[in-house]
Amino acid sequence: MVYQAADSRYATMKYNRTGRSGLLLPAISLGLWHNFGGVDVYENGLAMLRRAFDLGITHFDLANNYGPPAGSAETMFGRVLKSDFAPYRDEMIISTKAGYYMWEGPYGEWGSKKYLVSSLDQSLKRMGLDYVDIFYHHRPDPNTPLEETIGALDLIVRQGKALYVGVSNYKAEEMARAIEIANGLGTPLLIHQPSYSMLNRWIEDGLQDVLEQNGVGSIVFSPLAQGMLSDKYLNGIPQDSRAGGSSVFLSEKNLTPELVDKLRQLNEVAAGRGQSLAQMALAWVLRGGRVTSALIGASRVSQVEDSVAALNNLEFSPEELAEIETILKG
Ligand code: NDP
Repeated sequence: MVYQAADSRYATMKYNRTGRSGLLLPAISLGLWHNFGGVDVYENGLAMLRRAFDLGITHFDLANNYGPPAGSAETMFGRVLKSDFAPYRDEMIISTKAGYYMWEGPYGEWGSKKYLVSSLDQSLKRMGLDYVDIFYHHRPDPNTPLEETIGALDLIVRQGKALYVGVSNYKAEEMARAIEIANGLGTPLLIHQPSYSMLNRWIEDGLQDVLEQNGVGSIVFSPLAQGMLSDKYLNGIPQDSRAGGSSVFLSEKNLTPELVDKLRQLNEVAAGRGQSLAQMALAWVLRGGRVTSALIGASRVSQVEDSVAALNNLEFSPEELAEIETILKG
């Protein structure tokens, strides 16, 4: 059946300005790191993408290496673009990245101009696109001059292969330098993509200040700490969860009794707000307007719906925030 986007798709989503730019991003964006690869069920991924767009999620985040196998999430997304999303391309912000290992030899990872330009060309082919909306350098490269990496991003924008560029996983000082170089070239960095959640607060220690001072936006990945910030692990490890499955990024070991105890207390605070823990965790990263977008993952349609419903209550009382701090420090 031909997909027709819901007429109501812009009725409830909130859109935030990305730093000092013209670009608005949805408060909740969807990433294709897990569950959209060649090993996953295509129809499930398709259903999640359709539901997300119907709920106003206009931003889909990819990377060259997402799968498995590496590259297959982009191929999957390209298939959906062709079959379903083509009429809506101009309503979407599609991003990809390069930085991690992608192919053999000296030019298949890190931050050289050679790697970044070649990798984006491959990504565009896999997705069947002429350009991406945002292209990221995925991780800092200690051995390539930052001028070369940021220069490659500038080149890519000038070639029309990306409208905007950003970086991911850069620390505060590296970011400050990257911003300076990019501004000097005339292609300001639009956005930073760091990890951030109630369980991982490193960006509060300097990076957020650098971004705000320079008008750079932020889209935070793993705001649910890969699903740990939900009620699913309160009574053991479900088989159909990321920690219960074969992901090398999350396992039973991460769910210590101390953490589960905190999660249980946080779950009660969430219930008091009329939210699921996952919803409160998303509202929390968006609190105070410091973060442009919370970049979620999902393994099923119901999670996309549950997560988007976080927008029904984004406000925190000072008492709630204090209680959360006490639990997190405990
Ligand atoms: P999350 O912290 O949102 O974790 C997503 C996982 O949590 C889902 O796959 C699902 O896992 C579970 N989940 C999601 N919603 C709910 C819900 N409402 N209730 C209960 N459980 C839920 O983010 P990810 O770690 O998946 O990362 C999100 C995106 O960020 C990636 O797709 C990618 O685009 C980006 N990213 C970027 C990185 C970078 O270096 N720049 C690194 C990592 C991610 P399950 O059901 O399987 O348990």
